[in-house]
Amino acid sequence: RIELKNFKKTFGDITVIEDMSLSLESGEMLALLGPSGCGKSTTLFAICGIHRMTGGQLLFGDRDVTLVPSQQRNVGVVFQNYALYPHMNAYENIAFPLMIRKEDRKTIEKKVSEIAALVHIGELMERKPAQLSGGQQQRVALARALVREPDILLLDEPLANLDAKLRLEMRSEIRRIQQQTGITAILVTHDQVEAMSMCDRIAIMNKGDIVQLSSPQDMYQNPNSEFVASFLGNPP
Ligand code: ATP
Ligand code: MG
Repeated sequence: RIELKNFKKTFGDITVIEDMSLSLESGEMLALLGPSGCGKSTTLFAICGIHRMTGGQLLFGDRDVTLVPSQQRNVGVVFQNYALYPHMNAYENIAFPLMIRKEDRKTIEKKVSEIAALVHIGELMERKPAQLSGGQQQRVALARALVREPDILLLDEPLANLDAKLRLEMRSEIRRIQQQTGITAILVTHDQVEAMSMCDRIAIMNKGDIVQLSSPQDMYQNPNSEFVASFLGNPP
């Protein structure tokens, strides 16, 4: 269980998040859905520790990680602009988080080959990022995020750079991989169809606050405000 309590984030005089609380059950995938600038990425940066929280508390299970530096949190991230290392092949990219932890070579080989098989990129290990398609690169990025068996997986618009057909394919692939690993995950998106089709629950954000949190179906049938209703629009 991952819990964010009374999260507050300011940049200088600007308050981006006033008081936000969110908790995730183990193994669920939650969508953070909302318009540009509402604070989605800011929330993920706080959870992975890239940004310091101005106020509030973050718990990974029983462990309070609010003040734990990002390298000492076990979080997997796939960000739209958090690219693969171009000079390393796929294997080296995926192995990198384990090399940093100084795990032994045999363990690294075993873990990388397991995750590569799960993500269906076992054949591509020798390739550099430039020799991979956009979808394959995202698979490698996903494998790199998962290889450390993180407490939580954070996905920030992971499909934004893909064309429409590939995006559709990767939607179901990410969901399959999330379910097979049983990992707890947050998917940030401003695409309501993506949120509805991939996630167990959806949190709709507006201006630094969660305005509604429920299952996709419940949210669609019972939006609690004009904002939510208009934001969800007409899914298929
Ligand atoms: P998008 O969908 O466009 O990615 P978002 O919901 O991820 O939007 P955030 O990146 O979390 O939005 O930004 C939330 C607000 O915080 C925005 O108004 C943004 O301008 C502001 N903000 C983010 N980072 C900083 C910073 N370093 N300094 C000042 N303001 C910032
Ligand atoms: Mg963002």
